[in-house]
Amino acid sequence: MHSPTEKPSPVYTLDLNFLANRNVIASYLIPHSGGAILIESGPGSTIPGLTQALKEHGFTPQDVSDVFVTHIHLDHAGASGWLARQGATIHVHPVGAAHLIDPERLLISAGRIYGDQMEYLWGEFLPVPEDQVAIIRDGDEVEINGRVIRAVDTPGHAYHHHTYIYGKLAFSGDIGGIRMQPTRHVRVPMPPPEFHLELWRESVAKLRRLEIEAIAPTHFGIFNDAQTHLGWLANELDAVDDWMKSIMPAEPPVDEIDARFHAWMRQRSLADALDETQIQEYELANPSFMSAPGMQRYWRKHRITS
Ligand SMILES: [Zn+2]
Repeated sequence: MHSPTEKPSPVYTLDLNFLANRNVIASYLIPHSGGAILIESGPGSTIPGLTQALKEHGFTPQDVSDVFVTHIHLDHAGASGWLARQGATIHVHPVGAAHLIDPERLLISAGRIYGDQMEYLWGEFLPVPEDQVAIIRDGDEVEINGRVIRAVDTPGHAYHHHTYIYGKLAFSGDIGGIRMQPTRHVRVPMPPPEFHLELWRESVAKLRRLEIEAIAPTHFGIFNDAQTHLGWLANELDAVDDWMKSIMPAEPPVDEIDARFHAWMRQRSLADALDETQIQEYELANPSFMSAPGMQRYWRKHRITS
C-alpha cells in the first residue's frame, strides 16, 4: 500500500484493515530521521492492523514519535492512548485535548450511537497521559526533524477538528468528506452532536483558499485532485442542505429521517455508478444511521427560529 506523493519526504497511506476490510480507515505515515509521524491513530480495534502496516515500512509502534489527530472521534484517535504508552506525543486541537486525557464523556456519547457494538467496532480507548498531549492551535506549525506540519482549524463535522497541511497536501480527517478509491463520490458524515452545515461550508472555503494540490481524507487515501474534490464536497453540502429543507421542517422522528436519508444516499450512490461493494464500504466508513440524529440535532438547534 505504498503511495508516495512527494520527494524527498514521502507520505504513505497505511490501511488499518478495519474489521478485515481494506480501504476504509487510513492512517498516514511520514518517516523522519528520528522515527515516524502518524496522521491519525485509527481506533483501538485496528492496533494489529496499524502494527502490521508500520512493519511493512520498517517501523514498530515504538518508533512513532508523534501522532497528529484531526479530531477525537474513535475511528481517528481511539488508539492515541495506546500509542502514547509506546512513547508518542499526541498533537490535538485545544478543544479535543481534555477528551484524550479523560475519554469518559466521549465514550458515553459514542455509546449512545453504537450501543453494544462499541467494543467490536472501536476496541479500547486508553487515556493519553497529560504530559504527552501537545495542544496545537489554528495556524501553528510543528517541525519534527525537518518535517513541518501546520494546523488549520476546520469546524463543521466537529468543533474540535483540525486539517493538517504538509507541503501541498491536506490531511482532511472528516471535514474533507469521505471518498473511497477510485470513485468521484464524496459524502458528508454528520454525526451528533456537533455537525454544523454553515461552519462546514466556511471550512471548505478556507481549504480552497489554501491552494492545496492533494487531499487525504481518513476515509480513504490520497487524491491528487484537491480543488476538484473540494468543489464536489461543496456541491454535496448544498445537496444535503436542500434535502434537509425538504424533510426537516415537518420534524419527522429520527427513525424516519434515517430511513429517508438512507434511501436518498443509496439513490445518489447508484447515480454515481457505485457498485454494491463500494456502497458497503461507504456504509462502513460512514454509517448513514449516524447522520440522522446529527442532522436532527443541528436542525433543532440552528435552523428552527422561534
Ligand atoms: Zn469524525
